[in-house]
Amino acid sequence: MEPLVDGFGRVARKLRLSVTDRCNFRCDFCMPLHPIWIPHKEILTYEEMARVVRILVSMNVTKVRLSGGEPLMRRDLEKGVKLISSIPGVETVSMTTNGYFLAEKAAQLKEAGLQSVTVSLHSLKPERFEEIVGRKDVFSKVLDGLREAKKIGLHPVKINCVVTRGCNDDEILDFVELSRQSGFSIRFIEYMPFDGRHLWDVSRLVPGSEIIEKIREKYRLVELPREPGSTAVVYEYADGADGNVAVITSMTKPFCGDCDRIRLTADGKIVPCLFSRDEYDVKKLLRGGASDEEIALFIRESFRKKFAGVETLIKAKGFVPHVRPMHTIGG
Ligand code: SAM
Ligand code: SF4
Repeated sequence: MEPLVDGFGRVARKLRLSVTDRCNFRCDFCMPLHPIWIPHKEILTYEEMARVVRILVSMNVTKVRLSGGEPLMRRDLEKGVKLISSIPGVETVSMTTNGYFLAEKAAQLKEAGLQSVTVSLHSLKPERFEEIVGRKDVFSKVLDGLREAKKIGLHPVKINCVVTRGCNDDEILDFVELSRQSGFSIRFIEYMPFDGRHLWDVSRLVPGSEIIEKIREKYRLVELPREPGSTAVVYEYADGADGNVAVITSMTKPFCGDCDRIRLTADGKIVPCLFSRDEYDVKKLLRGGASDEEIALFIRESFRKKFAGVETLIKAKGFVPHVRPMHTIGG
């Protein structure tokens, strides 16, 4: 089939697949205080997800990243990974996770076809981390998950750190030291306004440029050419140390021009862009007896309406954040 192309000529290559909206953490920048969970019957089965993936692969989408909520909260995730990774044409299956169940699940998931993992770690201070994620006694489990992922050979193992001013922006160099010692890739993410508690404010946003400046006070960095479609700008250490750092500047410097992502929510909505409010209900077709061709056409038409980009939107006064909090879209 023809590739999946939007109205601006951008081609979809990567799928962000949210397998559940449930989460055992309550990160203040993500989860509402009183989350309303999607009813179980509305959540796609692994077979339904795999069917959409098969259709997307036929349109040249080849990389799948599992997300959530917390993907490891979904029962038998390894079955879902196996189903998806076995689809001919799927080149990579990766996952973004809070890491809590990773140590116990990593080997099974790798066996099922998971290749790489990104673990969210927002502070290296146990108490602060647990305050951010709203759960006690979880820090060491997340670190165990990171170590286990590396030990069993998931590759790459990356760390996502959402930086918020006045909270963890004093730890940037500590994360840099961690990456230099461990070889992990640290990705500093700008705080985005999809937080379920509506705490987002521009004063709490730490621009990626400020993060890089801070690191450059101590280390010489070499900026790598950005991979087309990537949201991250990656820097290596000029002194040859292991690991690397990246900034994901979705707010101050989004790379919408060559965006190659499409999203499928756990409740079966195609979301062409995290920042737009548009979503398209593919579940209705999946459960209504539609053929693969009809579903492909529906996805094609939905994706064609993909929003141009966020730059002008963010600068505009009165920006209205997405109605869905982050845990229901997949980050
Ligand atoms: N539960 C998993 C986790 O936390 O890694 C996967 C889902 S989470 C929604 C995906 C990514 O989005 C995580 O790295 C998380 O830290 C990040 N995230 C959540 N809320 C955010 C926000 N308001 N701004 C920027 N990133 C956010
Ligand atoms: Fe859960 Fe991830 Fe959201 Fe934190 S960011 S509340 S771990 S879904």
